[in-house]
Amino acid sequence: MSTKRNDPCHCGSQNKYKNCCWSKDEAARTVASQEQAAARSEAAKAEAAAAPPSTTKRPVKTTGVAPKAHNQGPAKQNVRRKV
Ligand SMILES: [Zn+2]
Repeated sequence: MSTKRNDPCHCGSQNKYKNCCWSKDEAARTVASQEQAAARSEAAKAEAAAAPPSTTKRPVKTTGVAPKAHNQGPAKQNVRRKV
């Protein structure tokens, strides 16, 4: 785990690690960290979907039921139509 880039490669090729498996290991490390980041963001998305922030959608109580009961009928007759 602690192979330095100027040390002999851990694969036993007698080459310096940086000239041998370094780039391969680095790529593997990058992929792993990208996968972890992706997994984290997926988890965050799932959490956000499960519990949406209250700022985006406010709970509205019984819209359309109470106001309609008051304005039934007469309001319609006051609306002028263009002829
Ligand atoms: Zn190597």
